[in-house]
Amino acid sequence: MDAHQDTLANPFSMDEDCRNCPALADCREHVVHGYGDAGGEFVFLGEAPSAGAEATGVPFTGDAAGERIQRILGELGFSRSAPDVAERSSAGNQNSPSSGDVSEPDIQNAYLTYLSRCRHPERTASDDEVRNCEPFLNAELRMINPEIIVPIGDRVLRELAVEYTTRAPDSFDAAAEHATTVRGRGFELVPMIPPAEQTDAQEAEFVEHVKENVFSRDYRQTKGRQSR
Ligand code: SF4
Repeated sequence: MDAHQDTLANPFSMDEDCRNCPALADCREHVVHGYGDAGGEFVFLGEAPSAGAEATGVPFTGDAAGERIQRILGELGFSRSAPDVAERSSAGNQNSPSSGDVSEPDIQNAYLTYLSRCRHPERTASDDEVRNCEPFLNAELRMINPEIIVPIGDRVLRELAVEYTTRAPDSFDAAAEHATTVRGRGFELVPMIPPAEQTDAQEAEFVEHVKENVFSRDYRQTKGRQSR
């Protein structure tokens, strides 16, 4: 974690009472802002919190899909915690999503966040709601300045394609691009199938791709970053 960073949860102190999307604000339990190393080289970006993540307050935790992401983080050396760490902490901590400090994932060099940070129990976020939430994501990406973004799922991949690649969004498919590297403007994208839909073989394929094709070369672009 960055030496100047006090907390892994919502390290940029973003608005936890945001009501820019009234329909989401009325039914969410918590806003789930980003979590992790504010100086991380990798950003894992999902579409919206699951019920598990909403209960724990930590992105990609609280259920089997989150456990898969946490396991991947561990296999890549980004987490020193057990994959189900936040799930265990949430059991007695339902109303205080970010206070279970001994059980929050110990993450370094990676940051976890979402396109839209409020969960609707019955539907995905509308395009307008994703647009409302964009300033939070843009601010995180500007402040973190990562080298690699892991877009999780088709919607995230296509949103990033508009901003950071020269390809048409419709030409992207997370299943086809899973565990590959896509060059973008300022970032490289390493797309991933959503963890709830991934097989163990696809998980292994993603981990192997990052180890063999990302870690094995100098993926740092010219951003004036010091080596870590
Ligand atoms: S989805 Fe984002 S913009 Fe909309 S209410 Fe939640 S935090 Fe605010």
